[in-house]
Amino acid sequence: MRIETLAVHSGRGIDPATGAVTLPIHMSTTFERAADGTYPHGFVYGRSGNPTRSLLEQCVADLEGGASAAAFSSGMAAIMGVLQSLSPGDHVIAPQDLYHGTARLLKEGFARWGLNTSFVDMTDIDNIRQGINPATKLILVETPSNPLLKITDIAAVADIAHQRGVACLCDNTWASPALQRCLDLGADLVIHSTTKYLGGHGDVTGGIVVCAREDDLFREIRRMQQDGGAVPSPFDCWLTLRGIRTLPYRMRAHSENAAMIAAFLDGHPNVAEVYYPGLASHAGHEIARRQMAMFGGMLSFRVNGGAAEARRVAGSAALFTQATSLGSYESLIEHRASVEGPESRTPPDLLRVSVGLENADDLIADLEPALAVTR
Ligand SMILES: *Cc1c(COP(=O)(O)O)cnc(C)c1O
Repeated sequence: MRIETLAVHSGRGIDPATGAVTLPIHMSTTFERAADGTYPHGFVYGRSGNPTRSLLEQCVADLEGGASAAAFSSGMAAIMGVLQSLSPGDHVIAPQDLYHGTARLLKEGFARWGLNTSFVDMTDIDNIRQGINPATKLILVETPSNPLLKITDIAAVADIAHQRGVACLCDNTWASPALQRCLDLGADLVIHSTTKYLGGHGDVTGGIVVCAREDDLFREIRRMQQDGGAVPSPFDCWLTLRGIRTLPYRMRAHSENAAMIAAFLDGHPNVAEVYYPGLASHAGHEIARRQMAMFGGMLSFRVNGGAAEARRVAGSAALFTQATSLGSYESLIEHRASVEGPESRTPPDLLRVSVGLENADDLIADLEPALAVTR
């Protein structure tokens, strides 16, 4: 089945008790044992498993073409679950422009626990090949990257990882399975911040890890989920599933709108540079064409005139809300360096845009006066 059909039908069914077409939310924290002491429905206790959570896990595993999934209470909790499944002394290779929250977790949190990380420029595959050592257990890929929209060749990284017996994990938050299927390209694990496109409505925080195979590493991740307990509530799972039903159609509209805005910004006299993988001039365009169905709803651009001018533009657009995050139906604009803090490597004149589902012409008409400069 194709992705639109999976998004509608996976993890869904008619409620056998009532005939309800929309599935109920199972709030119970505990589940009855049969007279013989067994658990006839497979559920024991809310932390270790819940019917609504199982449906979400089934659905996202199907969308990614994976064997199984483990849902967490946030994207960072999902990443924590993966990292906690490694051991002291293990080595991780991560991209230089990794999501800043993940980078901070690796540098400040897990370094103290003996997990060593090398941050490399993954647009050059040789950096990964050279970065692998006997202790390397995981290569973390994030493409398109945040906030520079760099593209990494997932199939090439997975290939190198497997030659050396290392697991390859893709953070697929920005593309979603509607545009990019990392497991098909050879990755072993996919993670999502479901807070973004999967939830899609800016109203639920969550994360998920999907595996290609239920191997030892995934069993350890499942143990971290169930014993560690950073799990989403049943209502969170239900909201995320509801968002997923329309994911493939939303991703098309996000991508079409972003392509139009990127074309408008590209060549604008007050814009120094546009980062969008759909532009033929983008360094990763050819790889993106191979591994993505469309180019997604995220872009960033640099404003002529420096940080102050960029911040003025961000504050002048009316249809774009100045806020962090991405993947919801409304457009957001963000001065990224000031969110990332003093250690940020992001250019200070860069604005990141999460292009929403409004009409693209209205969005462009809104940016035009904001960019028409005062200097
Ligand atoms: C937002 C985000 C995360 C973190 O997810 P949370 O749900 O905020 O914890 C991780 N990776 C990427 C690429 C993200 O955009």
